Order: sequence, then structure tokens, then C-alpha cells
Amino acid sequence: MTKKVLVCGAGGFIGSHLVKRLKQDGCWVRGVDLKYPEFDATAADDFVIGDLRDPNLCRYVVDMKFDEVYQLAADMGGAGFVFTGQHDADIMHNSALINLNILDACQKRNVKRIFYSSSACIYPEYNQMDPGNPQCSEDSAYPANPDSDYGWEKLFSERLYLAYARNYGMEVRIARFHNIFGPNGTWTGGREKAPAALCRKVALATDGGVIDIWGDGLQTRSFLYIDECLEGVLRLMRSDFTGPVNIGSEEMVTINQLAEYVMQVAGKTMQLQHIPGPQGVRGRNSDNRRLKEKLGWEPQAPLIAGLATTYQWIKGQIEAQKPC
Ligand code: NAD
Repeated sequence: MTKKVLVCGAGGFIGSHLVKRLKQDGCWVRGVDLKYPEFDATAADDFVIGDLRDPNLCRYVVDMKFDEVYQLAADMGGAGFVFTGQHDADIMHNSALINLNILDACQKRNVKRIFYSSSACIYPEYNQMDPGNPQCSEDSAYPANPDSDYGWEKLFSERLYLAYARNYGMEVRIARFHNIFGPNGTWTGGREKAPAALCRKVALATDGGVIDIWGDGLQTRSFLYIDECLEGVLRLMRSDFTGPVNIGSEEMVTINQLAEYVMQVAGKTMQLQHIPGPQGVRGRNSDNRRLKEKLGWEPQAPLIAGLATTYQWIKGQIEAQKPC
């Protein structure tokens, strides 16, 4: 029988890719979001434009016992959005309401299996001070001390999902994503993340020019290409493991190295100019021990391969915007 699936946040970066993947797998998919995907037509069979902060909308879209619900909707962005402190109230209010409403609607419709997209931003700041040796195993989340209110909301919502699993028998699957990137992601406007922002800066600059980097560029991160993220999501969703699992790459780089990679794929050389800007924690890397143990799988693709594809896509977007 055709699997019936709901994707919340289906107009966003990961959600729109997920809808495509679920369609390839033969599912019937309803998407819901405030907006249609920005860069491509949706692949969903049915797409509802609506605000998931509204409980009535949530009840309206969860009008049947879906086989699977993927909850990706959130008020989110890169460091320039979540680490400035200027959007904290909206981030917490909006994303918490979405999770409260959608869980309630799913529970009332007797939906069993629901996926929640949490974040590496839940990990405590005190374990991420050393850029060369961050600690991000799933069980290191407590005592909690995320460095952003975005992270606190994600941690609260993780607990909310786990409470619904405990009290209502829902089959909850929680991924902690570590910096997902790829084509069709936000690349300008303030909500973009480091890989997209660097691709844009390099594409716009002339060879031999200068690009800005926030901070000293020695802060570390890992980045996961969208296709591998989706593979992890589907494997986790169809596993029998309840509890948070990191979905990320273990290929940790400094932001300066990330910039060097982007220049390499662009075939350009430029100087890095370090300027003040929001940076988040000093070091972060995915710890994939639980992922390997529970799913028998881990991401394999080298970072530079995903950057090459993403750079070409962003370059194409910039060229398409130029007046003839
Ligand atoms: P995104 O911003 O592209 O997608 C989120 C979508 O949610 C957007 O399309 C937005 O319009 C929608 N949305 C927001 N408020 C809504 C509302 N009130 N009603 C309906 N829709 C609403 O982000 P993404 O990168 O695709 O991330 C998807 C999920 O994964 C988010 O929950 C995010 O916090 C989480 N996550 C992403 C990353 C990453 O690196 N991209 C890392 C960690 C966690």
C-alpha cells in the first residue's frame, strides 16, 4: 500500500529535498509550509500553504492517520540570524508553537511515527571551547547549556517529543543535524549558513580579491551534504531507535579551511579578511558512534565534493540575477 507522508517545512531547504526523495521512494506526500520552495517546484502531491503556529491549521493538515510525519518547520537561519540575539523571542516562540501544535494534532489523529529535526546547537557550550577537540556525543547534552536560544528551543522540543513517546506511545525519531548544505538552500539575505555564504562571496569576488570571514576563522565545524542527510533521516525514521542521533559528517574543518576549499572548487585565489561577526561556539564536530551503531551506516562523501556542486549552483543563481 502507498505510504502516506506529511512533511512540515516542505518549502524549506531540507524539507523540499526530502519531499523529492520520498516521491522517488513511491510515497504519497503532503507538504505544508508558509511558502512554496524558493528555487524549484515542489514534488509534493498536495501542498498546503499555512502557518503551523496555528493549531487549527495543524489539525487541518493532519486530517488522516499518516504513516510518517516529518517535522522540519522552524524559524531558523545561519549564525547571522540565530547568534545575534536579535531574533531570540521569535525563534523560541514560533518554533515551540509549531512543535506543540503538530504533536498534539498527530497524537489526536493517532499518528504513530514522527521525525523531529533537532540540531547540534543543543550541545553545551562548555564542551565546545576547544576548536581541536569538541565533545558532541549524544549523551553529552546534559547538564544543558546551549549557547543560543535556538538551541534551547530545540532541546525543549526534543524533550516534548520524548514525552509524547513516553506518555502516548508515539514512535519518535530525533536527529541532531550538523550543518546541512547543498543546492536549493538559502544563499543570501541574512539566513544563509557558512558554506552558502562563502560560495556566494567567492563567486562574487574577482580572482585575487578579498573576502570577509567572521572572527579569526579558526573556529571548527563539520558540514554534511544534503543527499547524505536525507539518507540518514530515512534510515533513522525506519529504524527502531527512539532517542537523539547525530546526523553529520566527522570531517571537521576550520572556517578558513572551508573558505580555501570553496576557492579551490571555484579556481580562484583570494585573501581572507577577518572581521568581527557572530560565530557561535569555537569548535563543533559530529560524533557518529551512535549513528554507526544504531543505523549501521555513516556519511562517506568528502566535503569538497558537496562544495563543488553547491558552488556551481550558487554561481548559477548569481548569473541568473544579472541584468541581460
Ligand atoms: P529552512 O529555513 O530552509 O526550512 C524551514 C522551513 O520552515 C521554511 O521553509 C519555513 O518557511 C518553514 N516555517 C517556518 N515557520 C513556519 C510556520 N510557522 N508554519 C509553517 N512553516 C514554517 O531550514 P532547513 O535548513 O531546511 O532546516 C530544516 C530543519 O532542520 C529546521 O527545523 C532546522 O532547525 C533543522 N536544522 C537544520 C540545520 C541545517 O544545517 N540546515 C542544522 C540543524 C538543524
